[in-house]
Amino acid sequence: MTAAMRQVVPERGADPGLASRYTNKTVVAIGAHPDDLEIGVGGTLARLRRHGARVVMIVASIPKDFEVRRAEASRGAQILDCELKVLFDDGPHRIEDVKTCELVAMIDEVVREYEPAAMLTHSSADFHNDHLIVYNACLPTQRLRYFDMFCYHPTNCRPVPIAFHPRAYVDISTTIDAKMHAITAHSSQFGERGLDTSMYREFAHVHGRMIGVDYAEGLDVVKLMLA
Ligand SMILES: [Zn+2]
Repeated sequence: MTAAMRQVVPERGADPGLASRYTNKTVVAIGAHPDDLEIGVGGTLARLRRHGARVVMIVASIPKDFEVRRAEASRGAQILDCELKVLFDDGPHRIEDVKTCELVAMIDEVVREYEPAAMLTHSSADFHNDHLIVYNACLPTQRLRYFDMFCYHPTNCRPVPIAFHPRAYVDISTTIDAKMHAITAHSSQFGERGLDTSMYREFAHVHGRMIGVDYAEGLDVVKLMLA
């Protein structure tokens, strides 16, 4: 049985805010590469899923080590209990080698197929060109139908100065461990390259302090229908 078919009993407890907004609806999260979604918004995706949303993680491309990184992406999605779709699923592709119109057409198809209530994607504040290409390809898909649209924190592997100013926060105190677990599923990117993942927990802790909880993820809001 797929994650899409299985009914989820929503979490009980405090007002879940954004998380309950998408119960029984579909949320698509789009990242340029494997690991971007876990780093940028993994706690939120797990939270949305626990509140009964169908959550589809869209990975645009896998630039190299295709089989290894695809398996890691599958494991990351499994840990977050989300579905996974790789847009270029026939082998390695670099985003910058793809024509913009082709990428927009593929994300258009995602919107037509899944009819999302919300889309989460990279931010214009990101500094990685592949991430910016994906962000810019997501924007025009808004012409097809209405969906809420959010951007997540730039997904850098090393700490660098960035100008990202969240306008919304998701309490991920109950899913921070799943997020960190899902990040470490990408062992070719972290364990083997000696990169430290602890800063992602620290970012979440800093964002959490902004709203008085242990851990949070910050989102920029592109478009949100309040009522
Ligand atoms: Zn990336």
